[in-house]
Amino acid sequence: SAFCRHFSSSSPVMAPVPKEADYLVLGIGSGGIASARRAAKYGAKVIAVESGRMGGTCVNVGCVPKKVTYNAAAIAEAFREAKAYGFGGYNTPTFDWPTFKQKRDAYVKRLNGIYENNLNKDGIEHIKGRAKFVARDEVEVALDGGGTQRIKAKHILIATGGRPHIPDIPGKELCIDSDGFFELEQLPKSIATAGAGYIGVEMTGMLNSLGTECHFFIRGQTVLRQHDPMIQQVITREYERQGIHMHKSQIITGVEAIGNGMKRVTYEDLSTKEQHSIEVETVLFAIGRVPEIEDLHVRELGMKLNKKDHIIVDKYQNTSFPNVYAIGDVCDRGFELTPVAIAAGRRLSDRLFGGMKDRHLEYENIPAVVFSHPEIGAIGLTEPHARAKYGDGNIKIYQTQFTGMYYAMMDAEHKAPTAYKIICAGKEEKIVGLHILGQSSAEILQGFAVAIKMGATKKDFDNCVVRSRFVSSKNCPSS
Ligand code: FAD
Ligand code: NDP
Repeated sequence: SAFCRHFSSSSPVMAPVPKEADYLVLGIGSGGIASARRAAKYGAKVIAVESGRMGGTCVNVGCVPKKVTYNAAAIAEAFREAKAYGFGGYNTPTFDWPTFKQKRDAYVKRLNGIYENNLNKDGIEHIKGRAKFVARDEVEVALDGGGTQRIKAKHILIATGGRPHIPDIPGKELCIDSDGFFELEQLPKSIATAGAGYIGVEMTGMLNSLGTECHFFIRGQTVLRQHDPMIQQVITREYERQGIHMHKSQIITGVEAIGNGMKRVTYEDLSTKEQHSIEVETVLFAIGRVPEIEDLHVRELGMKLNKKDHIIVDKYQNTSFPNVYAIGDVCDRGFELTPVAIAAGRRLSDRLFGGMKDRHLEYENIPAVVFSHPEIGAIGLTEPHARAKYGDGNIKIYQTQFTGMYYAMMDAEHKAPTAYKIICAGKEEKIVGLHILGQSSAEILQGFAVAIKMGATKKDFDNCVVRSRFVSSKNCPSS
């Protein structure tokens, strides 16, 4: 109509009205959801934005599907070990990876729904789309359904996490990362893994237990080089004992497809500089993760980042922009762990909306576990770090290695090690580091972690006599 023609030709184009909130949370992963929900409990008006699946890395491609796969691997081990305890009458059990994967995916999907429900219950508006800063205090979201939405808030949290990366080598596109691991439709018959950190160690260990032929490429002589030397040595030796082909001081330099789903992996020996090759079905890179900031546009707006592009924050999680904060894997605090992201997120909301002015996370003595085979737990300093900090004369080490009684019934070839170390400092022998490897280390660590955080000494440990469960102190005066 004439009216429409007139209206559209002469009216200025109006910018869409920005939504407003007390708290805008970018990324609904471990840290983001924890912080958003805590803020909402204090009565803040919260908007949260997520471009992927609810729950972030941990729920979708991290801790959760990893732990479920770890459980499958543990069951495979238990089947093999059961014979030593007299069990029989079953044929060699088979493992149906496609069925397992389908059930694992369904579980993750249920968790996605639970996350969404929790946001709804807490009255948090959640928007599906990719967030980008258009000014230091304003964000634009490219909505999943098309179009954009601008949002302004008194406080903005960046909780966008990180992502895996594969180096630029020939055949890069034929390799998978940890996200790809969770997409595998079949259990690989053989795999080459690069990267001696948490993910490489966990995934290689799981696949080996499930029956995959594993080739593990590491740049040094041991895996987990950030851990205490005792842990590095015992777990590397144990992986070799379990039949994992450890390619020490060797790096993957190229990958090519050779038909039938197989790949030729070329690798270099770092000491001899010689090139060799092997053939495997799957090639996995797990060489560390990068912070997810690319689409956020914060570098362009001048936010301070470190060399690896992590957002620099102070102890209160403040970034270099006023009223903009960062937590979790995207920030530079050095701990890429779910409980760390959650704790930092909740404390931030306590500070911003709960009136707790000094509330912040102490990034000291954070316990960490590796779901290797067997498990590893660690808190505090490694021996070299403790020696450097306190001096050789002020450090005392207590360590032990033994074979747990679980393995008493087994042949030597099935016996896995247990190794424990505590590092004490000063005359009072305050425990400044604890490193354990063996069955159930992940669970065992938790109690120790509380004690160490409270300042436990060697004497405190000695004074704690573990009483036999079946004998009361009345019947057994010496217990
Ligand atoms: P994330 O959980 O990664 O959440 C970030 C969210 O932000 C994502 O959902 C992402 O889609 C979204 N996002 C990113 N950019 C944008 C944008 N521009 N706009 C909108 N949304 C955006 N930790 C442990 O403690 N224990 C474990 O056993 C463990 N196992 C792991 C196993 C694997 C294989 C991996 C990869 C990690 C594991 N981790 C583990 C680490 C843990 O998953 C992370 O430390 C944790 O998820 C980090 O939380 P976060 O809130 O910082 O980020
Ligand atoms: P990590 O940082 O743990 O380890 C990666 C390792 O790969 C490095 O330590 C390095 O070891 C090696 N590396 C680095 N670059 C290269 C390269 N170019 N070629 C070959 N090797 C290389 O990273 P991940 O990817 O394993 O895991 C990321 C993070 O996720 C972890 O740091 C952890 O915080 C978290 N996570 C936590 C888990 C848990 O809590 N149980 C489980 C899984 C992940 P080196 O120098 O010895 O070569």
